[in-house]
Amino acid sequence: MTRALIDLDAIAHNTRLLARSANGSGVMAVVKADGFGHGAVEVSRTALAHGASWLGVTSLREALELRSGGITSPILMWLYAPFETLDEALINDIDVSVASVTALETLARAAERTGRTAGVHLKADTGLSRSGAVEAEWPDLLTTAVKLRDAGLIEIRAVWSHLAHAEDPADPGLRRQLAAFDRVRAAARTAGVEAPLTHLANSAAVLQLPETHFDLVRPGIALYGAEPIPGRAFGLRPAMTLESTVILTKRVGPGTGVSYGPEFVTDRETTLALVPAGYADGVPRITGNRASVAIGGVRCPIVGRVAMDQVVVDAGDSPVVAGDRVVIFGNGENGEPTVSEWAAWAGTNAHEILTGIGTRVPRVHYSVESPNETSTRSPSRPVECAEMTPS
Ligand SMILES: *Cc1c(COP(=O)(O)O)cnc(C)c1O
Repeated sequence: MTRALIDLDAIAHNTRLLARSANGSGVMAVVKADGFGHGAVEVSRTALAHGASWLGVTSLREALELRSGGITSPILMWLYAPFETLDEALINDIDVSVASVTALETLARAAERTGRTAGVHLKADTGLSRSGAVEAEWPDLLTTAVKLRDAGLIEIRAVWSHLAHAEDPADPGLRRQLAAFDRVRAAARTAGVEAPLTHLANSAAVLQLPETHFDLVRPGIALYGAEPIPGRAFGLRPAMTLESTVILTKRVGPGTGVSYGPEFVTDRETTLALVPAGYADGVPRITGNRASVAIGGVRCPIVGRVAMDQVVVDAGDSPVVAGDRVVIFGNGENGEPTVSEWAAWAGTNAHEILTGIGTRVPRVHYSVESPNETSTRSPSRPVECAEMTPS
């Protein structure tokens, strides 16, 4: 049925490519949202074996999942409420991003309770207006951080920020953010913060803005092989193939309505193929009558509405039969759509397509370079090894 094949060799290749591009800076592999849907533990292991030295996630839950998976590398988490209890972060050596005095004080209490030192990355808002302390708040944040550091409750490990738009090097907003980041780093030094690490770059910045690399870069989407800069290709390899199986075909005449609603009626005799993948699996509902899948290397359009669990595909006069493999997206090498094409069909980005793959879709990890990493995490049924390797 429907499953996601994850090519760990592609993750390895992309990590190496990003590490080369970072040119001496360290790599923090961003594995939030279950490794952008690819399986956070498996992706982390592979990235760490091929040039990454840090992992980045949003929540404590995500960070703890990595520790439960046996991962011992440094981890940074950056999204939580200041009233959340973060004792588990300290106990498990998980660094925490801090954007406010309240959060610093919460962490200090966690340090007192646990007898641990909190590893802190001070986050500046340099123009994205999401997380981070704005410049006016930075002096108070620094004063409190230095006080708690001197009390032995926190260790200031980094100063960092996040870019709003790294796709266009000439973007004036980007230049303003870089200038603001310089001021924030200068203020930190003046306050007596000798932060050992500075980090700023996301995928697009790793690939084309060396002035953003500092000590660590934080690629997300590029790790998974989607090209982050429109119109440019850096040789990344898409890691996920979303595949399914034709489970029924039928020959119908012209004038046949297909799927819910009045949205599609055949205009000729044709073969319809039923594919058990719907919006609960991550096929965006908006892509009905817009997207295509590949069956036997031939692109066939999805006709009519995408349902929760299934779509109908117009196979025309192709000799499609039940049991045929359907590639919803892949690396494009055999003519199948890529995740970037799906993003365009759905009017979104590759990130949303990848993180939208449903939890009921088994993730099948394979590697030719490191065959013992091959595994299946299946919520429904075990998958035989023989079925795993894409043909
Ligand atoms: C998601 C995220 C990244 C990765 O961004 P990409 O554009 O996917 O490379 C880096 N840093 C932070 C803070 C993020 O939230």
